[in-house]
Amino acid sequence: MLIVPEREIADLMTREAAFDAVEGVFAAMASKDAYNFPVIREAIGHEDALYGFKGGFDKAGMALGLKAGGYWPHNLEKHGHINHQSTVFLFDPDTGMVKAMVGGNLLTALRTAAASSVSIKHLARKDSKVIGMIGAGHQATFQLRAALEQRPFEKVIGWNFHPEMLPNIEKVATEAGLPFEAVELDQLGHDADVIISITSAFEPSLMSDHVSAGTHIACMGTDTKGKQEVETALLGRATVFTDEVAQSITIGEAQHAIFNHVIRPDNIVELGAVINGTNPGRTSDDEITLFDGTGVGLQDLAVAASVVDLAVKKGVAIEVDF
Ligand code: NAD
Repeated sequence: MLIVPEREIADLMTREAAFDAVEGVFAAMASKDAYNFPVIREAIGHEDALYGFKGGFDKAGMALGLKAGGYWPHNLEKHGHINHQSTVFLFDPDTGMVKAMVGGNLLTALRTAAASSVSIKHLARKDSKVIGMIGAGHQATFQLRAALEQRPFEKVIGWNFHPEMLPNIEKVATEAGLPFEAVELDQLGHDADVIISITSAFEPSLMSDHVSAGTHIACMGTDTKGKQEVETALLGRATVFTDEVAQSITIGEAQHAIFNHVIRPDNIVELGAVINGTNPGRTSDDEITLFDGTGVGLQDLAVAASVVDLAVKKGVAIEVDF
C-alpha cells in the first residue's frame, strides 16, 4: 500500500493535472463508465463534527474508493488543525485490496476549482473579459486562480458578504497582473462575463435581474440541503449544467428550483455530456449558462489517483506492507 501524506500534495499536484483528472471523470460519468455511490454524512454527536464518505467507481480510469472526512468546527482553536479534514482511500478494482491512502485537504480545493474551470472551458463565451467573484474565503482563492487560466480575462471584480475578506481574492488578481475592483452585486452581475459563486450562504445573494445575457455562472458553494447562492428565477432563465443530476437536485443549487417547480430534473445537463460532444453546451452568445458544481466523490478519486502516480514518479510515495 502507498501513502501520500498531506504535506507532499502541494509539491506534487498541479492545477493542470487536477483539471485533466476532473474533466476526464466528468466525461466518464456522462458516458456511464463511472458512477458515484450514495453519500453518507452524519453529525456524530462529538465535537459538533460532521463526518461522512463520498465514494464511487470509475471503470474508465479504474479508480475505486472513497473520501472520508468532514468538518470539525473547534479544530483550529482547540488543536491548531484546520476544521475541514479528509483522506482519500483507493482500492484495486480487480482484487478489492487497498492501494493507497492520500491526504485529501488540498486535493479537495484543487478538484473543486478544477470543476468550475472545466465548466468555464466548455460553457463560457470565448470573448469573456471580466470575471466576477462572489465569495472570498478559502475556496475562492483556488477558484479564481484556476479560472484565470481558462480565458484571457482582463479584469477581476468581486463582492463578498464580509467585505473585509475581499483582499484574499484581490491578492490573487494582483499576482496574475490583473486589476481588481470591489463592486455591488448589481454591477457584478451586469459587468461580469463569467461569475463564480463560492460561499456558505443559506440565502441567495445574486438575483436574476442582476445578470446580463450571455453570462456563464459557476455556483460552487451549495453542497448541502438548505444552502443557496443565487435566486431560483435565475435557474429558470439559464441553461443548467451540473456534475451529477442526483446531487444537483438534492444538495446542489438546483434543489430550490426543483422544489419550486421552476425547472425539472430532465432540464439539467451533465457537463460530461458537453465534454463528450453529446450535448452542444452553449448555443448562442445571449444564452446564460449555469454550472451547479456540487462536488462528487469521483472527483476526489480522480485527483488522488493522479497524485499517487506523480508521487511514485518522484519517489515520494511511502510504501508500507499491509
Ligand atoms: P470559508 O469559510 O473560507 O468562506 C465562506 C465564504 O462564504 C466567505 O466568502 C463568506 O464571506 C461567505 N459567507 C458566509 N456567510 C454568508 C452569508 N450569510 N451570505 C453570503 N456569503 C456568506 O469557506 P470555504 O472553504 O471557502 O467554502 C465555501 C463553500 O464552498 C462552503 O459552503 C463549502 O461547503 C463549499 N464547498 C463546495 C465544494 C464543492 O465541491 N462544490 C467543495 C468544497 C467546499
